[in-house]
Amino acid sequence: MKRKDFIQKGLGSVAGLAAGTALLNSCGSEESTASKVNINMNKTFNWKMTTVWGKNFPVLGESANYLADWVGKMSGGRLNIKVFGSGELAPGLESFYTTSVGTTEMGSGASYYWQGITPAATFFASIPFGMNAQQTQAWMLGGDAEGYELWKEVYEPYNLVPLLAGNTGMQMGGWFNKEINSTDDLKGLKMRIPGIAGKALVKAGGAAINVAPGELYTNLERGVIDAVEWVGPYHDYLLGLNKAAKYYYAPGWHESGTELEFFVNKKAYDSLPDDLREILYTASLRAHAWVISEFDTKNAEYLQKMVSEGVQIKQFPLEVMKELKKYSDEAVQELIGSDPIANRVYQSFNAFRKKVKPWFDVTEKMYYNTLMEM
Ligand code: CA
Repeated sequence: MKRKDFIQKGLGSVAGLAAGTALLNSCGSEESTASKVNINMNKTFNWKMTTVWGKNFPVLGESANYLADWVGKMSGGRLNIKVFGSGELAPGLESFYTTSVGTTEMGSGASYYWQGITPAATFFASIPFGMNAQQTQAWMLGGDAEGYELWKEVYEPYNLVPLLAGNTGMQMGGWFNKEINSTDDLKGLKMRIPGIAGKALVKAGGAAINVAPGELYTNLERGVIDAVEWVGPYHDYLLGLNKAAKYYYAPGWHESGTELEFFVNKKAYDSLPDDLREILYTASLRAHAWVISEFDTKNAEYLQKMVSEGVQIKQFPLEVMKELKKYSDEAVQELIGSDPIANRVYQSFNAFRKKVKPWFDVTEKMYYNTLMEM
C-alpha cells in the first residue's frame, strides 16, 4: 500500500493491513511462549530508525543517535538501532508510515505531524495555548498515566507503540519584520506557522504560508513573508533568522511545550524479550530528560547571545493573544470534529489542563511574578 492510500483510507484499512501483516509474520511460529522468550533472550535485534529531522539536527536528531547508543550499551549489543535522518531511507514525514508497515522498526518525530492521519495525535505534541513541558509530562506519566495510555490507544491501530522523547519547552512566538500592536496587525500578515496555529492566524485575517526550513531565512529577509515561527533562540540563531527580521516576539502561544516522540512498530516491539523492552523505555526517558535539559540550556545561551547582538524582544499584546486563543479553540474543535477518540483525548487533555492550573498559579506563577519584582 502506498503512503497516499494509507493516509486516505485511514483506520479501517490500516487495521486490516495490521491483521494481514500479523498473519504473514505468524506463519511457522508455532513454538510456545516460554521457548520464544528463551530464543529471543539470546537473539540479537538489528533495527532501523528513521527520523523526521536531519540525522544530526541539533537536539532532535542528536537525541535519536543518543538513544541508539544507550540502548546498544545497556543491552550489551543485543538491540542495535541504526539511525537514518530524513531523506536517507525515506522522507522524514514518511517515518510514521514506514514504521507502521514495518519497513523500519522505529521512527522519531512529533505526533502533531500525524494529525492528518488521526486528529487525536496532535494532543500528544501540542496545541496552541496548551500545557507546558512539565504539565504535559504530568499528564503523560503522573497518576494513571492517562495521557500516555491514550497515546498508546491512538497509535495501536497503526501498529505503533509511542515512547516519550523529550519536549522543546516553551517556544518563541517568532520573528516579525513589523511590530504587532493590535489585532489589526494580524490582518494580511504572511507568516510561516503550521498546523492549528496557522488556521487560527487565517481566521484572524492573516495568511499561513508553508516554507521549507532551508528557505525561511531568504523568504523572510526578502520580504516574501512577514514573519516566521521556528523553534527557539538556539535553532533560530542557527538558521540566521535574527539577521532576517527585527523583532523577536514572545511567548510561543502556539507551542507552549511540544512533546517529542519515538515510536516502535508493534510487532517488532512485541518480539522483544521483557528486559529489552524495559531498556528501550528507560533509554527513551533518558533521552526525554536530556532533550528538555538541552533545549533550556542552549536556548538560554543563545537568547543572551542574540540580545547582546541587538535583537529586540517583544511581547504580544493581550488583545492579540485573546483573539488568537479564540480562533485556536475554534480550529481545535474543527480538527477533532466528530472523531470519537479525538474527542476523548481532547476531554482528557482539557480536564488535565484545568486541573493543574490552580496548582501552577500558586507555585510557578507566584514564584516568577515575585522574582520579577526583586
Ligand atoms: Ca515551532
